[in-house]
Amino acid sequence: MRYNMIIGSVPAPNSMQEVYDMPPGGRLGPGYLTDEEKKNKPKVTKALLVRIYSYLKPYRKQMILVLLAILCSAILTLMPSVLTGKIIDDGLIARNFKALVLFIALSFGVTLLTNLIGILESYLNTWIAQHITYDMRNKMYRHLQTMSQRFFTASNQGDIITRMTSDISGVQQIITNTLTSILSNSITLIVALVLMFRQNWILALVGIAVVPLFAIPTRSAGRRRWAITKDSQACSDEINGILNETLSVSGQLLVKLFGMEEKENQRYEAVNKRMIGLNIKESMAGRWFRMALSTFTNIGPMLIYLIGGLIMMRYDDSITVGQISVLVALLGKMYMPVNQLLNIQVDWIRSMAMFTRIFEYYDMKPEIQNAPDAIRPDTVRGEVEFRNVRFYYNEEREILKNISFKLEQGKCIAIVGPSGSGKSTLINLIPRLYDVIDGCVLFDGEDVRKLDLGFLREHIGIVSQETYLFNGTIRDNLLYAKPDATEEELIEACRQANIYDFVEKQEQGLDTVVGNRGLKLSGGEKQRISIARILLKDPALLIFDEATSALDSISEQKIQDAIEPLIASRTGILIAHRLSTVLAADEILVVKDGEIAERGTHQELVRAGGVYTQLYETQFSKAASDAEPAPLGYSEGEEGM
Ligand code: ATP
Repeated sequence: MRYNMIIGSVPAPNSMQEVYDMPPGGRLGPGYLTDEEKKNKPKVTKALLVRIYSYLKPYRKQMILVLLAILCSAILTLMPSVLTGKIIDDGLIARNFKALVLFIALSFGVTLLTNLIGILESYLNTWIAQHITYDMRNKMYRHLQTMSQRFFTASNQGDIITRMTSDISGVQQIITNTLTSILSNSITLIVALVLMFRQNWILALVGIAVVPLFAIPTRSAGRRRWAITKDSQACSDEINGILNETLSVSGQLLVKLFGMEEKENQRYEAVNKRMIGLNIKESMAGRWFRMALSTFTNIGPMLIYLIGGLIMMRYDDSITVGQISVLVALLGKMYMPVNQLLNIQVDWIRSMAMFTRIFEYYDMKPEIQNAPDAIRPDTVRGEVEFRNVRFYYNEEREILKNISFKLEQGKCIAIVGPSGSGKSTLINLIPRLYDVIDGCVLFDGEDVRKLDLGFLREHIGIVSQETYLFNGTIRDNLLYAKPDATEEELIEACRQANIYDFVEKQEQGLDTVVGNRGLKLSGGEKQRISIARILLKDPALLIFDEATSALDSISEQKIQDAIEPLIASRTGILIAHRLSTVLAADEILVVKDGEIAERGTHQELVRAGGVYTQLYETQFSKAASDAEPAPLGYSEGEEGM
């Protein structure tokens, strides 16, 4: 039987076997709190409950309907047990065939009705849960979109995805399972007890006394089974890890070259042996428990038959066979609710922890926000000015120290410097991916913090070092910059970005799929597509973070040819790693250890013989020997300087 069929008002199973076959413990994990969960138990306050209720509130009408359905079916579930008594006493023992058929038909009708109500309840339940999780997911996604770059770089990506998927799915489980389970199991249990006491209080007490006999071993066996399952899961993960590592192409190469075959064999065999032990343990834990369960299952009814028979034969002959059978049947209906209610506290704590974690995310304030009186100027020039800018990611280490420079409309600045000197950090401050710690960054004479974020980012185009393309077609990626671009515009952008030759050669043209993150394309192709994307965006300020990774000189030249006209026609900042890019700039800023160490034209800086000269000799000279045959004494490149 599928697990969720057991929960709620769908008739509970009579057999202990089915109780055992449930996943060990509660719906949201093991049936007991782990040490970590105990340590981080959430504080359940009125405010938390009110907040949770605010998500349920829009669906309260549907919830009332579910409650009614649960109530009806929890009561109806027990009716066939009561009717068993009538079938025996009024039908079989009284030898009344009409009554027998009537009660059998009634019992069948009640079961059918219970199942129909169960279907309605499941539908409503799922509907409510899906709508609540839909609301919560949308809210979370919107919220995450407002979070700053720092949040995404500092957080573990897995955590963010878990919050979005597992935690919010957990909420769905809570609504469809935990809440309904508390209700329907409590009602079933109360009604079963009332009915049992009404039949015969002594036998009812006997029945209750039997319940712990199965409830206690079920819980402890569930706990033990969970522990073994967890161990064998870890063991199996370890085996998978070894297989993935050592049987992959590069893994095998490493094993062979280091002659580690025997060591790897031993490692594999050791884990494999551990796995066998765990599997045997798991299977045996099950066997002993099953044996105990079936024994206890029989003890309950047998005790009721024994004591019931004793009362009937010796003390009170008004008690009937039917009544005794009803008590046995009702006892069977109590196994599942008791077992589930025993887990409720754990589920409850876990649910509250889940909500708390989700709310913690909702409560995180976006670091970069629009000022309440943010402005959107009518005209844009794309000018940038840094005034005594200081910046750090963490207080311990200052990344930018007192940076000042001005970039006028139509001009182009190249930023060069050793790796890690703070170049990318510097440009990230312009579109406010981060805010300065001290000083200010101005865009068209206005502090960027006073400008509307949408406006600011709309007019800045960044071609970053690591080109990111979404999985989709080239067209999809281009349209991301300008959703209403015409076919001609797309082609023109590709032409200007020097990628049209490539696109044309593809069977699907612009509709060629780029693969996950654009992995089906080469680094150079990706970068040219991202240049085409920026061309379509047509920003007032262009920032080009040149890739450090080596491209062959043809690809490099193609990118260079694409970028040069772009820079010539607008205001630009280039983070340059190649001489040809540096030569295209009006001014060069040399950043070292977060400071502008030198500034000037190529010629001036080379003559000065400082940091730039060192860089030139180490970093640029390779590019120079590849692309520019006479870097220092060149004549053609000098015009722009
Ligand atoms: P490259 O030329 O290699 O791209 P860069 O000059 O652009 O280097 P940045 O990326 O600006 O250097 O990094 C400057 C320093 O800031 C580095 O030491 C880096 O480790 C650190 N850094 C960068 N991003 C972060 C971050 N999100 N959190 C903390 N430190 C960071």
